[in-house]
Amino acid sequence: MLSQSHPLLKFIREKQAYLTEATYFCGKIALLKNECMNEFGKRGNNADLKATIGLENLGNVFWNLTPAELVEDTILNGQGVLTDTGAIAIETGEFTGRSPKDRFVVKDAKTENSVWWGDVNIPVSTEQFDALYNRMKAYLTGKDVYVRDAYACADDNFRMNLRVTTEFPWSNMFAYNMFLRPTDAEIENFDAEWNIVCAPGFLANPEIDGTRQHNFAILNFTRKMIIIGGTGYTGEIKKGIFSVLNYVLPHEKNVLSMHCSANVGEGGDTAIFFGLSGTGKTTLSSDPNRRLIGDDEHGWADNSVFNFEGGCYAKTIDLSKEKEPQIYDAIKFGAILENIGFVGETSTPDYADGKITENTRVSYPIDFIDNIMTPSVGSGPKNIFFLTADAFGVLPPISRLTKEQAMYHFMSGYTAKVAGTEVGITEPTTTFSACFGKAFLPLHPAKYAKLLGEKLEGTDIKVWLINTGWSGGSYGVGSRMKLSYTRAMITAALTGKLDNVEFATLPVFELAFPTSCEGVPAEILNPRETWADKAAYDKTANHLAEQFVKNFEIYAAETSADILAAAPKTKMTV
Ligand code: ATP
Ligand code: MN
Repeated sequence: MLSQSHPLLKFIREKQAYLTEATYFCGKIALLKNECMNEFGKRGNNADLKATIGLENLGNVFWNLTPAELVEDTILNGQGVLTDTGAIAIETGEFTGRSPKDRFVVKDAKTENSVWWGDVNIPVSTEQFDALYNRMKAYLTGKDVYVRDAYACADDNFRMNLRVTTEFPWSNMFAYNMFLRPTDAEIENFDAEWNIVCAPGFLANPEIDGTRQHNFAILNFTRKMIIIGGTGYTGEIKKGIFSVLNYVLPHEKNVLSMHCSANVGEGGDTAIFFGLSGTGKTTLSSDPNRRLIGDDEHGWADNSVFNFEGGCYAKTIDLSKEKEPQIYDAIKFGAILENIGFVGETSTPDYADGKITENTRVSYPIDFIDNIMTPSVGSGPKNIFFLTADAFGVLPPISRLTKEQAMYHFMSGYTAKVAGTEVGITEPTTTFSACFGKAFLPLHPAKYAKLLGEKLEGTDIKVWLINTGWSGGSYGVGSRMKLSYTRAMITAALTGKLDNVEFATLPVFELAFPTSCEGVPAEILNPRETWADKAAYDKTANHLAEQFVKNFEIYAAETSADILAAAPKTKMTV
């Protein structure tokens, strides 16, 4: 961060001291006059926090402030600094990532028989929710809050109006960046269907509240509310609504909700890219030759693919203008950088700095990317990519899946994590996350797989498995696939250049991979050939295959024989 003597910090401190005093006296006067709620900004005619979600006796209520106003408040609060890119930089505090073990769903008449209960959707009772929310309301008494009216789902048929009430201005600005933005006229008559209340400063007490620890995110489908406390990680807001849509769309509207990015080629062909965190959804969907629909969450309705969001949330670790020009250039005024470091004592971001976390991020409205689809809707996909960062270096950088393999890999949702950054730790760990997004699925994974199967049935949609991870050996021996090669392979697939090339079959995983591809050295296409030690490859491939099979055991009973037959065959190969 900035040095203690930096003039900007001095300025902020002076302003803050002045402001704290002023706020204190305003608060006193308001209390004396018994009119705590001072409302500012653009507030709709029917907008009423007390009537809708019971929030009252607040300090100032700032409705739909502009990004400039939110930046100003963030800086004056001492919660962020302006970087020389024009973007503001904030720190999210104790949590720099989501906390899946502290994500709960209210179990009641509506959800009891529909939600997939377990580690992903941990039940809490209505009473618990109400009691915790009451304590949260008490916490917010007398405090300033920021309210944002926004919506999700770029396809008007599925639009969902949201109201996000936050303790901090930057959380509110995140909601502005990430959700779809209503016009001023729309705000005037805005009715919120779902409410999100986010108070990072409010800490739950496990003994009183029945939470696991002091932070929580709770979804209540009956009250149509998400409450978040004890964590400032902005991704909780975004993924909270994603989880809601993962329930509402498949369950009530027969739309497949997907953890994927999407873009459209010049001929109007849509491509979608499924993948777990860090596999390349955001990076690979920003392609100068294709218009972006969205980088993370989409719905697939009859013949359309639409973005849930209105912004992007990109990783910034090791970001460079050369490799990722579109994302780099989106970091300007209006963007919010999270948990980054700085070059020396300057206000220049140092994207190589992972001191706070490797999960450094930037959020920005989608129109910060040059070539986008407006509205963020495309036709049904012609190509589907499953992205996996295979740190074992076993899977081919590109392979084409049969329909059965597609279903198998969709249910498996494989990626691998590198064990850590410490020297000497080289063994990666597998992650299997059904539908490439298990953590956000309120329904059983089979529901989403069934919908995908129906969508693929009888079509010539091509499904590709892309390994954006390791080649030439596992993590520690090999190296990560060059981004420029992955881009070239995807381009080749999208432009039909792989339609007439020869394919070979990889043993064990039985994946069909092209033996040549424009812009890519042929020798990297067969992963086994990139390993100096072939016996080590075979051993690792079998080891990985075993884990696939073991993971799939939980789904075996309800999976058809043809899909089960697409499982890897563990055997020693020549
Ligand atoms: P999240 O769901 O967390 O948003 P994501 O799928 O969008 O994750 P990205 O933000 O695209 O993941 O992250 C991919 C990261 O991997 C980027 O930092 C990118 O620079 C890096 N990377 C390195 N090599 C490759 C490659 N061959 N293909 C894709 N990404 C690569
Ligand atoms: Mn992403």
